[in-house]
Amino acid sequence: MLLTISQTQTNDSENALDLGYLLHKNPANLNTVDLPFGVANVFYSEASEERCSAHLLLEINPVELVRGAQQLEQYVNDRPYVASSYLTVALGRIFGTALAGKCKKRPELVHAKLNLTAIVEVVRARGGAEVLTKLFEPLGYQVEATRLALDDRFPEWGESPYFRLCLSCTGTVHDLLTHLYVLLPVLDESKHYFVGEAEVDKLLRHGEGWLGRHPEQQLIISRYLKRRHSLMDQAVARLVEEARLLDESAEPGGDATAPEVAALAEQDLERPMTLHTHRLNQVAALLTTLQAKSVLDLGCGEGKLIRRLLADRRFEKVQGMDVSHRSLEIAAQRLHLETLAPRQRERIELIQGSLLYRDKRLEGFDAAALVEVIEHLDPARLIALERVLFEFARPRYILITTPNREYNVLFPTLPEGKFRHTDHRFEWTRAEFQDWATRMANRFGYSVRFEPVGPEDPQHGAPSQLAVFTQGVAK
Ligand code: SAH
Repeated sequence: MLLTISQTQTNDSENALDLGYLLHKNPANLNTVDLPFGVANVFYSEASEERCSAHLLLEINPVELVRGAQQLEQYVNDRPYVASSYLTVALGRIFGTALAGKCKKRPELVHAKLNLTAIVEVVRARGGAEVLTKLFEPLGYQVEATRLALDDRFPEWGESPYFRLCLSCTGTVHDLLTHLYVLLPVLDESKHYFVGEAEVDKLLRHGEGWLGRHPEQQLIISRYLKRRHSLMDQAVARLVEEARLLDESAEPGGDATAPEVAALAEQDLERPMTLHTHRLNQVAALLTTLQAKSVLDLGCGEGKLIRRLLADRRFEKVQGMDVSHRSLEIAAQRLHLETLAPRQRERIELIQGSLLYRDKRLEGFDAAALVEVIEHLDPARLIALERVLFEFARPRYILITTPNREYNVLFPTLPEGKFRHTDHRFEWTRAEFQDWATRMANRFGYSVRFEPVGPEDPQHGAPSQLAVFTQGVAK
């Protein structure tokens, strides 16, 4: 069986050779991997900046396949030829890094949306071409399925369930691989290995971000888990839980006390742009790109960033800290800490503490995020935070967002000279923030770059600003 993945350049800023980096397979080499049931080879038939095609050829050894099996007829079946769970095992072994959403040499490529095509020869689709369309179209693919003839001489054999499947999309290589990983065995419906609880984990891990919204979710879960009802129930329950974690609209606002009322007022001001949601999503996406596994959310408030990070299993440990006990209580409620499954629960820690004091509990993390926090501190106190964060906690990455004061004139309801939030002690212009952040980077041995947050105005910039610090000086 053969899987071909191609990237085609669509503009000068793209390079189809990126596919080699993303798949972690050098186009110049032939890669051969021995598997328990056969041999997999990866090779490229073309590799230029315009177009690059990688092929995964899996040759199954039918003798290995039936070793120990009793019946001779098992030698004669379609397993060596169709893309099945054997191909997904091979995908996991050969493209494991890409499947995990990692790219060691070029991490920024992981989120790049590329012009991709995948051709799978041959799939056996139970339910015919219609099933292929139902499964792949909602994920943004253009689906072309060519039915392969069984044998024209014997029409009584009926229609063949075998297809050549061609999928095209503009998307990430990671998404393409996870979709194939989950959906190829769903099409074929005959996994060659025992399906137990580990399969629920696998399904949810690879289905993260798309399975919960897929209109054929039921079909996928049922076929993937070989219709084992206890497993299907587990999968559905966990998907519901994840949806709840991500559901912004479930947040009640009525029980807020004074500081929280002020926080809500700030959100109201910015609501037309849903800036805060945008900001949190941007920070969460960046933390994923940076491949941070353990994250500190400093000044976590009601846990909105934590909720996003929790929905992605790549974040193994998330520790939220806030000075406000009340905020932490609200966070614990909204994250449903008391009823979370143990495995989810142990990924989160909420602690009360102040960013103005050195704290051992903040050491040893990959990344720290301070989303709209620094402007809540007295400028004179910032000196304490600087050492606590950059010198003592000292995570590899530090992400800090803060409002851009220049943008305030564009908020129709904000009186001139006022801050966006009554609890803000200062709001910086872009130059002020960049000046401070650059001084911090130089003083503590970090490099820093800046990103706008929200739609940019040509004169006043974006409503919010983000600094990304990386330990070590940029090369
Ligand atoms: N990061 C959250 C909340 C931002 S509001 C979000 O984006 O939704 C600012 C938060 O910083 C508040 O929850 C406030 O309690 C917290 N905070 C203020 N001073 C702090 C300090 N010295 N140490 C820790 N947290 C602090």
